[in-house]
Amino acid sequence: MKTEQSERLFERAKTLIPGGVNSPVRAFGSVGGTPRFIARGEGAYMWDEDGNRYIDYILSWGPLVLGHAHPDVVEALKQTLERGTSYGTPTALENELAALVIETMPNIEMIRFVNSGTEATMSALRLARAYTKRNKIIKFAGCYHGHADLLLVQAGSGVATLGLPDSPGVPPATTADTLIAPYNNLEAVKNLFEQYPEDIAGVIVEPIAANMGFVLPEDGYLVGLQELCHQYGALFILDEVMTGFRVAIGGAQERWNLQPDITCLGKVIGGGLPVGAYGGKCEIMEYVAPAGPMYQAGTLSGNPLAMIAGLSTIRILKQEGVFEEIAQKTAQLAEGLRACAKEKGIPVQVTYEGSMFGMYFLKSQDANIKDYATAKQYADTERYSRYFHAMLERGVYFAPSQFEAGFMSSAHSEADINYTLEQAQGIMRII
Ligand SMILES: *Cc1c(COP(=O)(O)O)cnc(C)c1O
Repeated sequence: MKTEQSERLFERAKTLIPGGVNSPVRAFGSVGGTPRFIARGEGAYMWDEDGNRYIDYILSWGPLVLGHAHPDVVEALKQTLERGTSYGTPTALENELAALVIETMPNIEMIRFVNSGTEATMSALRLARAYTKRNKIIKFAGCYHGHADLLLVQAGSGVATLGLPDSPGVPPATTADTLIAPYNNLEAVKNLFEQYPEDIAGVIVEPIAANMGFVLPEDGYLVGLQELCHQYGALFILDEVMTGFRVAIGGAQERWNLQPDITCLGKVIGGGLPVGAYGGKCEIMEYVAPAGPMYQAGTLSGNPLAMIAGLSTIRILKQEGVFEEIAQKTAQLAEGLRACAKEKGIPVQVTYEGSMFGMYFLKSQDANIKDYATAKQYADTERYSRYFHAMLERGVYFAPSQFEAGFMSSAHSEADINYTLEQAQGIMRII
């Protein structure tokens, strides 16, 4: 495979942009090699600057649930574009997307649009603190909620402890009220609530931990968290930036019948343009300015291009059978990958839900990944790198890190999935 153009562009990019990229995982840091510079996307495929074609299972990290450049989404964008790109005023399109999301997500009565998932989670926590008049929050080790200072924390040991900042530049005072617990461990959260019964404003959780690979919640875990929150007067905040419109149309809250007080959205809701949102019960959302005292704003928030991309994407996704077909293809791919590994005696942990999936290569047959500590302990990252590069060479684009989820779109065909599985079968023999 020729990669001269990508190599040349990457060298140049590194002199212009830190690390040559505008978001770290794109740099292929954990698998090595040169990131591909993409020139074009259509349906299930992307083409790089050297003309190589890839079947894309990243889909811009989740948003493109209909694939690249879906003709209806592109047409709607074109028509909207001709009327201007942003007005800084309210528009009818914002009402339309708000109403569609409220109709789709079981626990959103009122919604505020922002420009990214980071803004959504940051604002949701400000709201939880304003509403409960408490300061502490609980997050889980290995759960990613964007790069807001107060959320850039992980636990070193997997034991519930006070959080220490993950990045230089985050003052310890900013994260002093962020408590960390291991994922899938209710006991640890209970202990924190017992320690701080009147100080915890909210618990924020990814319903599927999909930023440390793909770790499903154990039975009863999410409902247990919700109960603990309500018992202690804290808000249950579900970060559905990735799972919204993917685990089910109505997200993980529909899938597992949850009643989060605040829901964070992003990715699919913008149909490939920068959008995030947070929403919940009117009583809570009316705390947000200008209805209420909690300040939050955005120059480009709710801009017409972002709104129409989200609207047309979700409308198509809600058409009869569309979601079910994507979910069925996801199952076919994931089951197929599991079967390939089994046939070659390679230990893997393959999981999927709706239109998302994950595959860990494990260091031993009996390893079980259920949280961040076990993910770091048992994931065979070296084998994953070999697999990733071999698949990429054959035109299949999986995430350049084992600790990221995979995504399916309505544009992927039976033939794409069969090709992927044939390549995986061949490669598992040699990695
Ligand atoms: C991607 C992601 C975010 C951050 O969204 P950005 O748009 O990248 O700021 C937050 N939470 C979860 C669960 C995510 O997957």
